[in-house]
Amino acid sequence: MDRLAAMAARYQAPKGTFDVLPAEEAARALVAEHAGRLLDAAGHGRIETPALEETEVFARGVGASTDIVSKEMFSFTDRGGRGLTLRPEGTAPICRAYIEHGMHKDPQPVKLWYAGPFFRAESPQRGRYRQFNQIGAEVIGTDSPLADAELIVLLDELLRGLGIADLELRLGSLGSPEARAAYRDELRDYLREHEAELSDDVRARLDSNPMRAFDSDHEGTRAVIGAAPTMLERLEADDAEHFAAVRALLDAAGVPYRLDPTLVRGLDYYTRTIFSFVCDRLGAQSEIGGGGRYDGLIGQLGGPDTPAIGWAAGTERILLALDEEVAMPGMDLFIAVAEDRQRAKAVALAGELRHAGISVEIDLAGRSIKGQMKQADRVRAARTLILDEGDSARLRDMATGEERRVEPSEVLELIRPG
Ligand code: AMP
Repeated sequence: MDRLAAMAARYQAPKGTFDVLPAEEAARALVAEHAGRLLDAAGHGRIETPALEETEVFARGVGASTDIVSKEMFSFTDRGGRGLTLRPEGTAPICRAYIEHGMHKDPQPVKLWYAGPFFRAESPQRGRYRQFNQIGAEVIGTDSPLADAELIVLLDELLRGLGIADLELRLGSLGSPEARAAYRDELRDYLREHEAELSDDVRARLDSNPMRAFDSDHEGTRAVIGAAPTMLERLEADDAEHFAAVRALLDAAGVPYRLDPTLVRGLDYYTRTIFSFVCDRLGAQSEIGGGGRYDGLIGQLGGPDTPAIGWAAGTERILLALDEEVAMPGMDLFIAVAEDRQRAKAVALAGELRHAGISVEIDLAGRSIKGQMKQADRVRAARTLILDEGDSARLRDMATGEERRVEPSEVLELIRPG
């Protein structure tokens, strides 16, 4: 919002939230249509879950120690004493729905997609909000590397198809929770041996999060971590084989990626493949979309053990990366009247034409005929029907200025789309 206007406004949208004004809707609609078309065409069915879930859907006891779960959720107790949370992400609610509706009895895998608002109490900055929108896809009920590759190809197509350039796909594998736990212990022991060379920050978090050392820009820490063992080197045989298969499929599909042995994701339920599409132009919040396998999550939520994989992309970050003005489509027709007594006729005709699928605006502000013609230009009407005095009418092509006499009753035939 304009700074002066913001100072004058008594109420403002809550911290980290924003209004989407009509002029900004066209770009959003473009992204939503592109994503919907792509995911429908790949055989994913759209699912909608509530904006609220029982808090336990996200905070599942086991390993629920990620920042998102521990401090970034908007949680409250309702009047019935139930703990509820505004959904911070889409995967856990979809797994809840998969179990609740017995989707494991359907032919597997179940392929879904979703789009909608999500909520995290993060500190806001460019590309990071407290209410934001995600488009996401899930493939539930198969551990085939084909599902990993197909989903990654879809996200690649979603982003590139919109014209987002300079994207980098980072790819890694976390293996099984057991291998990961063993690796963390090994890494912690290794870092302890080099404790004196590490930054204070990394040393303070050695116990809780040794992986943090990978993100450090402290010189000594970087030297130590450069020689550290990586998770990819510690994958168990079947996880390593699975990862090799995913990579071979991506190579065959011609999707370039960079192996990132240090890749981690914000949520703790991931296993095996994880990936992230990054666009450096976006600055600090450079990830546009990402995801991974979550083979243990449905089991943790009380369902049958079911392997699954998914991703989510942030609509606002897509729009930042597109950085393009998308114009609202203009009107098919504006109806202008020379005399006030024709206004009722304009209302009736506009209704009839809209019913036939034509976009029509009429003057609602009592403008003169000259003012109405200006308004027709402002709404970028392709044509204007001018109801003249004495019940004659003209249809004006607004691009060429050409006019022809018409009967109002034949307008529909003359401008019928297609
Ligand atoms: P995540 O659910 O954390 O795996 O994030 C998936 C995608 O959602 C990210 O790549 C971002 O594009 C988007 N995203 C996550 N958190 C936010 C946020 N606070 N504000 C805006 N977009 C976000």
